[in-house]
Amino acid sequence: MATLFITHPDCVAHDPGTGHPESPARLEAVLAAMEEPQFRTLIRREAPLGSKADAARVHGEQFVEAVLASVPQSGRAALDPDTILSKQSGQAALRAIGAITSAVDAVMAGEANNGFCAVRPPGHHAEPDRPMGFCLFNSIAIAARHAQKVGGLGRIAIVDFDVHHGNGTQAVAEDDPSLFFASSHQFPLYPGTGAADETGVGNVVNVPLPAGASGANFRRAYETAILPALDAFAPELVLVSAGFDAHRADPLAGLELEEADFAWVTSRLLEAAQRHARGRLVSILEGGYDLRALAGSAAAHVQALMTAN
Ligand SMILES: [Zn+2]
Repeated sequence: MATLFITHPDCVAHDPGTGHPESPARLEAVLAAMEEPQFRTLIRREAPLGSKADAARVHGEQFVEAVLASVPQSGRAALDPDTILSKQSGQAALRAIGAITSAVDAVMAGEANNGFCAVRPPGHHAEPDRPMGFCLFNSIAIAARHAQKVGGLGRIAIVDFDVHHGNGTQAVAEDDPSLFFASSHQFPLYPGTGAADETGVGNVVNVPLPAGASGANFRRAYETAILPALDAFAPELVLVSAGFDAHRADPLAGLELEEADFAWVTSRLLEAAQRHARGRLVSILEGGYDLRALAGSAAAHVQALMTAN
């Protein structure tokens, strides 16, 4: 048993253009970090193309087709001022879905204890009927539905430690007591949602943190609010929106986390998965825009996943 690491060259090829923070160099930095000797024992796989049927469970068939049809044959197309497509973007978005759904299948089949999907574009801002915030499809919500409909699981938890609120994921989870969604994020900040009083049907936990909040503040949010609620929910699978833009070096936000804080939260989430979900945990890359901080934080995250093996 080991940790699965899934990626695909199509996810590097997606290119929103010069100067866009969600750049191909982000994934290249993560992939370079994974060449270090401590990562030799990872099970490495290329992401298959995700199925449109999987995507349609969250977004509906029409939306899926419309987003894929908006991918330009050359040059770029903007779905909104932040969300820019190049000709590889549709394939990249489908690879991101394929990465996380196949990782769920692998941990369900006992081929790995847990897994990390190093993919882009990110997904947690994509709402059922709206791409936004660099995100086309909500890969993690799609994976939750896949685990339920294909894997036969009941209760799925999604925990999001990206510095931005996962509005799209919350939109999918907030009316559905079979899903649990918890997010720590800077507030106020893009996309503007994620206040503490947004609690869904009692299955949503938002912990807004002010600009300047430290790793200690972050850990307290997990110890006092998110982890107890996660334990009470007793998930059969834990999915993690792993954005690393809460790092102190990140240019898009103002929290003060360090690599060790990402390792810490990963270990606490793994322990919860071990208590309730036979250790099944799958995480997916969301944000993180300082290349060095992103690479170091993703490495700390994967290293923490590997300690469970
Ligand atoms: Zn983010």
